[in-house]
Amino acid sequence: MEIKIGCNTLYSAGRLSNEDAFTLPHQLRALEIIADAGFDAVEYSHASVLTLEELAQVAERTRALGLIPWSVHAWTPLAADDAQVEPTLAAFQSAAEIARALGTRVVVVHSAGGMDPARLEERKRANQTTLRALAEAVGPETVVAVENMRSLADWEFLLNMVATCGAANVGVNIDTGHANLGDLGVVRAIEMAGAAIQTTHLQDNFGERDDHLPPGLGQIDFVAALAAFRKAGYTGVYMVEISDCPSGREPDAVADTQAAARNLRSFLAQAGF
Ligand SMILES: [Zn+2]
Repeated sequence: MEIKIGCNTLYSAGRLSNEDAFTLPHQLRALEIIADAGFDAVEYSHASVLTLEELAQVAERTRALGLIPWSVHAWTPLAADDAQVEPTLAAFQSAAEIARALGTRVVVVHSAGGMDPARLEERKRANQTTLRALAEAVGPETVVAVENMRSLADWEFLLNMVATCGAANVGVNIDTGHANLGDLGVVRAIEMAGAAIQTTHLQDNFGERDDHLPPGLGQIDFVAALAAFRKAGYTGVYMVEISDCPSGREPDAVADTQAAARNLRSFLAQAGF
């Protein structure tokens, strides 16, 4: 089976201070950078700034470049509590519309809420109500993938929340950078999730802050991580999620995207793919 690799869309005109600056020409340029680097697939990181007509143009350019429209990031998280359910449901209708317009296979979403025992039942109820609604809105051909953060206890909660939500087209996304902060750990996050893994956010850091560096530029053991994905039975795209506004250095979308492709190919070879 041929392994597919992907990268998220990066802003290439300097530091992105306001998402509204990521207009259609920048989106089309981001796709070109990803294709030029040799990636097979794309995650749309900033799609909510586009109109439906612009989304259609992005989808068209994705096809023309031979890229797989793999995933899109929904930036409104699953509701943390009952009060957040209504506004979240409204935001998810538009997230689902964006996913349909782009034709993506996966919608990535975060979960809001903490681990306060007194409020955990409410978090679970609100998370599940909004997750089911998003899963229904995107339709059965698309999967909603809930992303890990940095804590082991939170990941245990999320895996149970997803498994018992009652929708079929749901799963999880492994963000390697988040797992490398806090007490979760990258390989453990993958092993715990197993067959629930639907997509990845491969990104690197030094265990201190959420840098979203290209794999290989931090200290995460990606050979071990990739071996764990394979052992878990993961057969989807190996998707990178790097930052277009890195802290402590100048943004360079072309260099970072190319480094991510080169390093990921090398790690895959070392992991025996
Ligand atoms: Zn992520």
